[in-house]
Amino acid sequence: MPHYKIAIVGAGPAGYFTAQALQNAQNEELTFSIDMFERLPTMWGLVRSGVAPDHPKIKSVAKVFEKVAAEPNFRLFGNVEVGRDLDIEEICPRYDAIVMCTGSSVGKKLGIPGEDLTGSLSAAEFVPWYNGHPDFANVEVPLDGETAVVIGAGNVAMDCARILGINPIELDATDTAEHALAALHASKIRTVYIAGRRGPEHAAFTAPELRELPKLEHTNVVIDADAVHAAHERAEAAGEIEKHLASNLEAWRLIAEHPHGGHERTMEFRFLSTPKEIKGVDRVEEVVFGINEIKGGKVVDTGETYSIKTNLVVSAIGYYAEHIKGISFRDGKVENDNGRVLGTNIYTVGWAKRGPSGVIGTNKSDASDVVKLLIEDLDPEPKNGGDITVVIPQAITIIDQAGWSKINAAEIAAGEPLGKPRVKEVEIAKLIALAE
Ligand SMILES: Cc1cc2nc3c(=O)[nH]c(=O)nc-3n(C[C@H](O)[C@H](O)[C@H](O)COP(=O)(O)OP(=O)(O)OC[C@H]3O[C@@H](n4cnc5c(N)ncnc54)[C@H](O)[C@@H]3O)c2cc1C
Repeated sequence: MPHYKIAIVGAGPAGYFTAQALQNAQNEELTFSIDMFERLPTMWGLVRSGVAPDHPKIKSVAKVFEKVAAEPNFRLFGNVEVGRDLDIEEICPRYDAIVMCTGSSVGKKLGIPGEDLTGSLSAAEFVPWYNGHPDFANVEVPLDGETAVVIGAGNVAMDCARILGINPIELDATDTAEHALAALHASKIRTVYIAGRRGPEHAAFTAPELRELPKLEHTNVVIDADAVHAAHERAEAAGEIEKHLASNLEAWRLIAEHPHGGHERTMEFRFLSTPKEIKGVDRVEEVVFGINEIKGGKVVDTGETYSIKTNLVVSAIGYYAEHIKGISFRDGKVENDNGRVLGTNIYTVGWAKRGPSGVIGTNKSDASDVVKLLIEDLDPEPKNGGDITVVIPQAITIIDQAGWSKINAAEIAAGEPLGKPRVKEVEIAKLIALAE
């Protein structure tokens, strides 16, 4: 009975769903052992470091991941970064196939003057800061001004705006990183603008995210009713309104009509606004926006501008993949053909393959499609390439499944007396100590 060894790089949803698809594909004639490599001592990728702390239900998918990891054919090599601690060239000959599930973690730039001023952050820094990613615990997030500006019209922008715009008491019972929670409690920000280049009808926010906004207990949510009306008219004029758009337009109407609660905090949507420049001497002081209009279905610059005084700008306009030595990248993704890295025994799944799109579940179908191709491509004779452990540098403390389980249990135990799902440890050395 042929037994194949598969390496998965990256312990996010794509990695675990790939392992699950391999486990599900096993039969009397085909079995796998799976080695998963993860650069951090903590697992679950963006389910831990991306998904907003005030959306805890979404994180329950981690239970599925842990079930996959509990199977006897699964081994974890946490705290091992491929391309740094272990080269692709060392992995390839030892496995029948390698699946790169390394995500898309670098924030796209606005490409405007002033973007590098202190106080101008990417969501790729701000989100992992509040979610306790060890690499971002020390990001400087100025919360001393009264106003923040979030640029982008997708769910990541919405998460950033909500975290800045809600009363931090709403985060007390969550797994928000302790350093971020303390900073948010001291925050002076009372108004958060969310700016999108196009109209409300084009925004990539999904309806559930929009529909929760009027329910916020301590924050007024504002969108100009005329802007919503105009968006509706434009959408109607453009032809039949499909279900998803109809649902979003209805959600916008509900937000516009919802009576403001007279709260101290406000989140306000500004559409048809393109950031032109971030002004400031040593730090962000003002963002200048160009005002757009929609003509013939296209976004057109009117030539007029307005500006918002602020010390904090968070841009959430997309991500691209971080380069990994030995892997070829194109257009911000692992260069691939439907998940195959042509001419190699390497495959890719998830955000590394597709770019930053889709929800957690999208990675499940993606994994199952790519695993089918991987199985089609397997040589009749397994490689028997030898053990990987001999090439992992001795100086590296490998976090195996037992070690990660200890970290997980310790964090959950620390959260219990505080009524939180967990208290995240953000120092690598302390995480490693918890695993030992
Ligand atoms: C801010 C934010 C909020 C989101 N909220 C939601 C939500 O509410 N609901 C929803 O359904 N989806 C949400 N998503 C989308 C969801 O998180 C993604 O679809 C999913 O995480 C992508 O999975 P992935 O495994 O491809 O990448 P990731 O989750 O990024 O996992 C990649 C993993 O690879 C590891 N890695 C990277 N490089 C290396 C290397 N060289 N060696 C070893 N390991 C490496 C990383 O550390 C990481 O653990 C959100 C995304 C973001 C950014």
